[in-house]
Amino acid sequence: MRRAGLVVWAAHQLARSLVRPGVTTEDLDRQIEEFYVKQGAEPLFKGVPHPSPGKPAFPSVCCMSVNDEVVHGIPSSRVLQEGDVVSVDTGARVGGWCGDSAVTYPVGRIDDEVQKLLDCTSGVLNLAIELMGQRSRWSDVATEMAKYVRDHGFSVVENFVGHGIGRNMHEEPQVPNFCTPQYRRNHDFALEPGLVIAVEPMVNIGSKKVRGLADDWTQSTVDGKASAHFEHTIAITESGPVVLTSAPREGESFESEA
Ligand code: MG
Ligand code: MG
Repeated sequence: MRRAGLVVWAAHQLARSLVRPGVTTEDLDRQIEEFYVKQGAEPLFKGVPHPSPGKPAFPSVCCMSVNDEVVHGIPSSRVLQEGDVVSVDTGARVGGWCGDSAVTYPVGRIDDEVQKLLDCTSGVLNLAIELMGQRSRWSDVATEMAKYVRDHGFSVVENFVGHGIGRNMHEEPQVPNFCTPQYRRNHDFALEPGLVIAVEPMVNIGSKKVRGLADDWTQSTVDGKASAHFEHTIAITESGPVVLTSAPREGESFESEA
């Protein structure tokens, strides 16, 4: 799974190097698809069936969600503008195992408030990773994630959650970024070595509520205010949580993994 994670990490370095005013989201997506092909990696998003029968499958290797778009945005001829933010979510299978990661990138200079949103969302993901090594149940991590976001004056999206990941991108269990008494009673899970989950907080400046757009995929905030999304694939090992979609560590190199 680390090999898949490294490929997805490298796809994000490519995205980071390409995001700038004037580029289109479909151009970003095409370059990342070419990168996966070169790596012999199988993109996981293209062709994902729509949850509603009769609706179109997802057409691209990345979700690209701009500004008030929360998740599942379809890459298009939309040109990124100075001050936009674009959430790039992408996954790949390498050697039979999956990696999944999302980052919200600033396009040029962005508003201070939006920068705070990005910092809060990456911060709450880092908090979750740290707590995964210190708590025994996911509900305890999720409770502290929701509190962290609330304390920053933003709201956690509740319509979408993270997931188990392994041979397939979406496996049990569901991994919410908030906790309810009902969740704790009926769906909670233990944080034990061998578990691999994709943790993916989505945070809004305003209302937590989302709405679907007419393209059948894109989810946007109801109030038009910005949203951010950060995700890592994380394994719990005997020596603590390990981020699988992170940069090469000492003794690793991306090229030798490819
Ligand atoms: Mg993802
Ligand atoms: Mg995911």
